[in-house]
Amino acid sequence: MLAYLDAVSARVCAACVGWVDRIGCRDCGSHEQLIGSQCGSCRLSERLAELLDDGTGTVHDRLQPLRDYLLSVKDPRTAVRWLKRDPIAPTLRSMARGQLPIAHTTLDELPLSMRTRHFRRLLISANVLPEIDVFLNELELALAQVLTTIPEEHARLIRRYHQWHTLPRLRNRPKPMTTGVFANRMRNVRLIAAFLAWLQEQHLQLPMVDQAVIDRYSASTSGRDELRQFLTWAARSGLCVKVEVPRVRNGPPQAAMSDEALAELTGRVLADVALSPVGRLLALFAIVYAQPIRSSVELRARGGGTA
Ligand SMILES: [Zn+2]
Ligand SMILES: [Zn+2]
Repeated sequence: MLAYLDAVSARVCAACVGWVDRIGCRDCGSHEQLIGSQCGSCRLSERLAELLDDGTGTVHDRLQPLRDYLLSVKDPRTAVRWLKRDPIAPTLRSMARGQLPIAHTTLDELPLSMRTRHFRRLLISANVLPEIDVFLNELELALAQVLTTIPEEHARLIRRYHQWHTLPRLRNRPKPMTTGVFANRMRNVRLIAAFLAWLQEQHLQLPMVDQAVIDRYSASTSGRDELRQFLTWAARSGLCVKVEVPRVRNGPPQAAMSDEALAELTGRVLADVALSPVGRLLALFAIVYAQPIRSSVELRARGGGTA
């Protein structure tokens, strides 16, 4: 509580000296959720009027629902803080001024992060942007990023596999993609890229792959389930001969899990520990897509005694 000195220099609170109005909101007099000289609602409304101004002194038509949506949150101060974060404010401002389209493609240009995802979901919830499968969209973006880091011919092959094998199956799912499936798909891509890189090191190409090559590779690596799917597809597409990828013997049970089962487990773990550091870490892995999420899941599952 603010303290003031009274006539005899004793410390008293503002209410006692009758100055309550002086410390209320300068716009509406409210004492609720104050931020500096304003209450939360007045501050938020002022911020939004400035940020979403289309240049004529009024909020952009298409961003009006976002304004209403944010003004309806329980504690406007959280919205004020959120709006301050980069890249939220500059993006909204540019959208309002017509410098960036009010479209998903604008968010596709932002860094892949939890914050961008939350931003996108918020614009969808506020009916500013149409509903899309957010993780599927992120998978496309993450894949495009990864493919720029590997040799062009490997990228072309993986892109083709994704387009003709993975994507149709993902699109046919009845429910939107989960973070577990997302992480799993990205792991898959990395494993195939690693296999193609290994082939190159051996001065081999996909059409030259035979059973002896696969046996040699399988002996030195995990992730055979993923490789099996890829090679089955490649053989069916006439890119290599049909080969048998050995199944893992006496491995941990998780090693033999299907993609779907692993994804479900990952999703469950994430849901269980959503707020713990481990949960955060796993969620982070899902976003940065370059981490061994399967081993993380194994550790958790064993620790919990449910494996
Ligand atoms: Zn008092
Ligand atoms: Zn106010």
